[in-house]
Amino acid sequence: MTIRPTNWTLSIIDFGMTGHMSQVSGSSSCGLCGRHITPGSGYIVRIEAMADPQMPPMSMQQIESLDFDATLSELVRQMEGMTADELQDGVYRKFTYHLCGECHREFLANPLGKPRRNPVGKN
Ligand SMILES: [Zn+2]
Repeated sequence: MTIRPTNWTLSIIDFGMTGHMSQVSGSSSCGLCGRHITPGSGYIVRIEAMADPQMPPMSMQQIESLDFDATLSELVRQMEGMTADELQDGVYRKFTYHLCGECHREFLANPLGKPRRNPVGKN
């Protein structure tokens, strides 16, 4: 198992009409506004968050001077104080949301939920 608790990469893997998703059936409500979504309408949004697989840049000298045994035992020592959930959260998380058409449009406009810009024309 590889543990890299920092440098998150967030990727939106896919979204689509719920009518095409066999595992979602019956009526449900929007994950954002709570509005009732009729079967066959609305959208599924899946978000995967995983630790960045890239290693930080290191010089050959740094790599040669690394004490891998010490690094590993330090990592194991850190892991002992963490719960399984904390370990899992540090590596990989996957979310699935059911959205109504309106919230889906808003989601696409701002997938990461960034703060809105100041209204244009307001000086
Ligand atoms: Zn909604």
